[in-house]
Amino acid sequence: MKVTVQEEISQIKMEKPHVVILGAGASYAAFPNGDKYGKKLPLMNNFIQVLELEKLLAEALTEFKTNNFEEIYDQLHKNSRYGTVRAELEKLIYAYFRDMDIPDQPTIYDHLLLSLRGKDVVATFNWDPFLIQAYRRNGSRISLPRLIFLHGNVMVGSCEKCKVTGVNGSVCSRCSTPLQPTKLLYPIGEKNYHLDGFISGQWKELQCFLKKAFMITVFGYGAPVSDVSAVELMKEAWGDVGERQMEQTEIIDIRDEDDLQKTWDKFIHTHHYEVHSNFYNSWIANHPRRTGEAYINQYWEAQFIDNNPLPKDLSFPRLWEWLTPLKEVEDKAALQNV
Ligand SMILES: [Zn+2]
Repeated sequence: MKVTVQEEISQIKMEKPHVVILGAGASYAAFPNGDKYGKKLPLMNNFIQVLELEKLLAEALTEFKTNNFEEIYDQLHKNSRYGTVRAELEKLIYAYFRDMDIPDQPTIYDHLLLSLRGKDVVATFNWDPFLIQAYRRNGSRISLPRLIFLHGNVMVGSCEKCKVTGVNGSVCSRCSTPLQPTKLLYPIGEKNYHLDGFISGQWKELQCFLKKAFMITVFGYGAPVSDVSAVELMKEAWGDVGERQMEQTEIIDIRDEDDLQKTWDKFIHTHHYEVHSNFYNSWIANHPRRTGEAYINQYWEAQFIDNNPLPKDLSFPRLWEWLTPLKEVEDKAALQNV
């Protein structure tokens, strides 16, 4: 009636994906001191100060009487008089995020990626390059989840013709032409996810994975008012809350539970959700690379399970070493499936 840590490590039972959705709050939690050189990540309410956009936006700030980046951008977008300002603004924003570097020591993003498997998915709304930088330094060690970029990303390029996606600056793996940088989707009231080929492809992929998911973790995504269409698209794929009784939703967020429940009640079936204010208390960090197996053990087979918390303070070599027993089981299972 009890599953030990050793038994959890030795199991490969879940084939369905664990889908993780990252919002601005996730990058903020993972990089509270900014990048390797202390360059800060902005939030919507300090975006203009952090990126030093006051001069460029002086006229707009006076006219629109708000300091919130989302509102200002929406106004610039509606007002053709500001076309040049908007183009200049987008260039500055792109360059700001493109030039960020992930800190040397393991971060929450490294821990998140290393705690999931190749069948799983991390979909991010964030433009910053940290998720890909974390992916690149761990990807040769162990299989990592698939990445999806819902609002474009400064480190992602794509070949529209071949539908190939890769790291910005490299070439298409099929036709060898340079990948084109992806557009960043900006915060405007009406989001047109279908207008950009790359972004619409990413959303279709997310919807596919959501339909099959056994668990969804929403990390630091506030579902802002400007993202109504994002929430609708996710809801459509996740389906009717009443029909998905067994699936679990997990929320990692620092907001209080009432506030979160109001935001997410369309997704959450009565008892099947948990809220954590910290990534390291989450299901993912407590059942690294076995989130689905732990789920089956606890929810389908009604067994008691132990946590196998990912050690958060190890250096990279020690961390990869710690993951080796998990990897060996996965490699063996993969060979048997060939
Ligand atoms: Zn191509």
